[in-house]
Amino acid sequence: MTRSDPDSCPGVLRLHQAADGPLARIRVPGGRLSPEQMQALAAAAVDLGDGNIELTSRGNVQFRRVRDAAELSERLTTAGLLPSATHERVRNIVASPLSGRTGGWTDVHPLVPALDEGLRADPRLAELPGRVLFTLDDGRGDVSGLGGDIGVHALDDATYALLLAGKDTGVRVPAAEAVDLMLAAAHGFLELRDGQWRLHEIPDGGTRLTEHLLANRSDLDASGEPVELAPRQDIPIGWLTQDDNRVALGAGVRLGSLPARTAEFIAAVERPIFVTPWRSIVLTDMDEWTAEQVVRVLAPMGLVFDANSPWLLVSACAGMPGCAKSLTDVRADTAEAVDSGRVIHTGTPQVAREGLDADEIVATGRQHWSGCDRRCGRPKGAVTDIIATTDGYRIVPAD
Ligand code: SF4
Repeated sequence: MTRSDPDSCPGVLRLHQAADGPLARIRVPGGRLSPEQMQALAAAAVDLGDGNIELTSRGNVQFRRVRDAAELSERLTTAGLLPSATHERVRNIVASPLSGRTGGWTDVHPLVPALDEGLRADPRLAELPGRVLFTLDDGRGDVSGLGGDIGVHALDDATYALLLAGKDTGVRVPAAEAVDLMLAAAHGFLELRDGQWRLHEIPDGGTRLTEHLLANRSDLDASGEPVELAPRQDIPIGWLTQDDNRVALGAGVRLGSLPARTAEFIAAVERPIFVTPWRSIVLTDMDEWTAEQVVRVLAPMGLVFDANSPWLLVSACAGMPGCAKSLTDVRADTAEAVDSGRVIHTGTPQVAREGLDADEIVATGRQHWSGCDRRCGRPKGAVTDIIATTDGYRIVPAD
């Protein structure tokens, strides 16, 4: 696939003109936010946006109906959330959220600032399309299945597999060289691309980029036993005991929209926060008493700490009024389906149907609601599609 247009991914300095007003997307490498940054986002959402912080499928955040872009960029710069005007849109870095706290072979989070700084330090890499995704997986397999362009996946506590276009290349690299190899792959992608926004859009892109890297590094080969990487909906939810016996709390965010007031309470806990690519957050490094108070206060405010909640089964595109293409307010229909008990975990297998009114829909398991056939934001993996058409909703079961 060759594209003739530059990618139109929004940033803070280049807003997207959505149907309901300007939209700004803020990159959050590794999903990590300090409490001060969360507080700054909450204040900006109230003062300059629609009062909500939207979480994206890349662990970034965005504001809708932005009123003063200059003021927003100034505030984000002060908060350390806009460290580069030239490279802001290329900092799409997802890392295993719980890495270094529980599970996984190693802690990938120290690689995040190293990769981010490496990207920002290189003028040529500002030319990367804003859609390129970097993934850092500590071996548990939670983010390697997201279909990133360039990634590493820990195989033990000292070795990473290089992933390109979402697949294992067979190239193995010591931890100390992982970031440099990812940066070299980013350069290689720029040399190979002919307008494409993503590596998988280049015919044999992963293979050709691997060959390109091996041609320039005589110490590398691609002889590693391939690792299978499957999409997983691996949301860390609820009470998670860290290896150091402190507590992390995973919290689902209903339809990925975090009200500023809730964000203020999260910031007030004064612990490191991670935005996950599953539109949830993880609040870390708490003692048990603090974690109990967090659940007591934030669950009634709508955060989801119950892994069996139907809210964790649903996702939805922007829909009306945010998207001009939408045929309906799909998010309101999704919320109504959850609230009225029509989103269920198990039951009879989902069957294909069409011409349904929103209140007729009863759907089982993971499901994505879309305001039109484009199905924006659809998660990877087995997901039932519920799609608005001019003749009512159509259900396409996962297969
Ligand atoms: S799926 Fe359609 S309605 Fe929904 S955001 Fe995408 S283009 Fe808009």
